Amino acid sequence: MEGTRRSFLKAAATAAGAAANADLVGAQDPGEDQTRGHQAVPSDLALRVKSLESLLVEKGLVDSAALDALIDTMEHKVGPRNGARVVARAWVDPAYKKRLLENAPAAIAELGYTSGQGEHTLVVENSHTVHNLVVCTLCSCYPWTVLGLPPVWYKSAPYRSRAVIDPRGILREFGLQLPADVELRVWDSTAELRCLVLPERPVGTETMTEEQLAALVTRDAMVGVAKVTLPTSGGTP
Ligand code: FE
Repeated sequence: MEGTRRSFLKAAATAAGAAANADLVGAQDPGEDQTRGHQAVPSDLALRVKSLESLLVEKGLVDSAALDALIDTMEHKVGPRNGARVVARAWVDPAYKKRLLENAPAAIAELGYTSGQGEHTLVVENSHTVHNLVVCTLCSCYPWTVLGLPPVWYKSAPYRSRAVIDPRGILREFGLQLPADVELRVWDSTAELRCLVLPERPVGTETMTEEQLAALVTRDAMVGVAKVTLPTSGGTP
């Protein structure tokens, strides 16, 4: 378990370092940049994180085993696939979708996903006239229960500021050109209120099963920086 925690801390430090130098969309996810030579030596930030953790453990404020369990949960048991299942269910079950939009935590819990941290989740629905984009301008608040850990770019200062100042420009950088007549709503997540986008169901998916639909749904679409699309090749999934 120690190894798991250390690798997580290293990934977090790598992520934070990448965010500090972020060229926004070009930033890699935590853990995707483990091969660069300079990562062999712990960064100042990694050492600071380790020192802080050691102090918290020493003072009895943090239980190492609990920390390991939490990290294991975040890395292996929750993630965007949970959110994708929620989205797919909403696409195939109008009653579920209604419950999801009215009381997201309860509807998400119906599928077995609960956070236990007491924060509220708000689901906002995309349509052909409205597109929703989620950011946390203060830090990195994110609906962990359904999306797992936030990607590096979500935590970066450029994304957090430009999502508000120039949201259409941000979407263009992600490859999403939003028509001028589509209303763009930007949601600022907080520690108490985490937002999840319910993307539009793509045309041409009418015969797909719920499981097949869930496989189409991406993390980026649930943050609002992308749309859900059909695979460009390979036929029906
Ligand atoms: Fe935050």
